[in-house]
Amino acid sequence: MEKVVIIRYAEIHLKGKNRGYFERTFTVNLEKSLKGLRHELHRTSGRYLVEKFPEGMEEEVTRRISRVFGVYSYSVGLLTESDIGEVYRAALLVAPESGTFKVDTHRGNKGYPMTSMEINAHIGGRLLSDRPALRVDVHAPQSTVYIDIREGGKALVFSAFEKGPGGMPVGTAGKGVLLISGGIDSPVAGYMMAKRGMETELLHFHSYPYTSEGAKEKVVELSRILARYSLSATLTTVSVTHIQEEIHKKCAPELNVTLLRRFMFRIAERIAKARGAKALVTGESLGQVASQTMEGLASSNAVVTLPVLRPLIGFDKEEIIARARTIGTYETSVLPYEDCCTVFLPEFPAIKPDLSFIEEEEQKLDVEALLSEALETRERLSL
Ligand code: ATP
Ligand code: MG
Repeated sequence: MEKVVIIRYAEIHLKGKNRGYFERTFTVNLEKSLKGLRHELHRTSGRYLVEKFPEGMEEEVTRRISRVFGVYSYSVGLLTESDIGEVYRAALLVAPESGTFKVDTHRGNKGYPMTSMEINAHIGGRLLSDRPALRVDVHAPQSTVYIDIREGGKALVFSAFEKGPGGMPVGTAGKGVLLISGGIDSPVAGYMMAKRGMETELLHFHSYPYTSEGAKEKVVELSRILARYSLSATLTTVSVTHIQEEIHKKCAPELNVTLLRRFMFRIAERIAKARGAKALVTGESLGQVASQTMEGLASSNAVVTLPVLRPLIGFDKEEIIARARTIGTYETSVLPYEDCCTVFLPEFPAIKPDLSFIEEEEQKLDVEALLSEALETRERLSL
């Protein structure tokens, strides 16, 4: 008898012809998450088993796989010989001492000498006589002993299903570039796209020395947290200091943020194209701040051709915060450091910037020269 972790996946089934590709990617991602930990990973009829990990490490295994997108649910269980005596020994180990319970058997091996009903009755009956404080309740039991009779003379016995993160395996939905600030929203946006299978590169703009080293460190830390969910293990940073100074010096102050965002999008698109990414991802949410009105969003879309994905567009701040807490980025996001968008922040930013006015103001700048210069400041950090 051996402790194992059972992994179930769901949405992958929907993919018909592509299923093989999805399963291969999922396997690679599971292996990556278990790196450095002795184990064997086996796929059997619609699920995976993690076996042969060091004793007592099941929590470490589940902690790691619980961050792999595509995992629908998982259980710690016992893998045993499938003769009924061995199955019962395993059932004794997972069954509670008291309260109500039922046995729920599934037979993958239809040649097994007992039917599912017979196994339920046999194991349930023996548990009742060995544990007087147990009672059967087949409708709403406090605990369930699950038995899965498998091919090859083996059975799985377990008592709990834990919910996984769901989603699709990262790498099955192309690549995008996440514009990551130090705020609450963009890390959540990156998480959500990764959950849909997108491989995500991280890009951060700073305006050193107006923004501090601390501000950058915070983004590095956020990126490290995201890397646990298979977002990129590198962070690209670009300085927009000179761009901001030029905008501040030459253009209408109410357009500061709008113009800066257009530069950010242009730079992001160039980096995306260089890295084979097919989309930009931001943490924008409609109406959240002055630059996130329809007009604001449209003015930044106007300078790029790649699709801009905004997974938080319809979320309230409360909902975003709740997600940030679950994925573990919230505490870091709320550390008090300035973002480059807050440097030279105008008193009254334009809420409905007019595109022709924006373009007119932009003509006061040497856009191409500023873009090339900014791209020169590009740095890639390993996380
Ligand atoms: P966040 O919480 O993600 O900072 P926000 O509500 O503060 O978002 P803005 O500051 O207007 O909103 O930024 C909107 C989006 O623009 C961010 O979600 C992010 O995708 C991108 N962005 C903002 N600042 C930066 C930056 N310094 N570097 C990279 N991307 C940025
Ligand atoms: Mg911000």
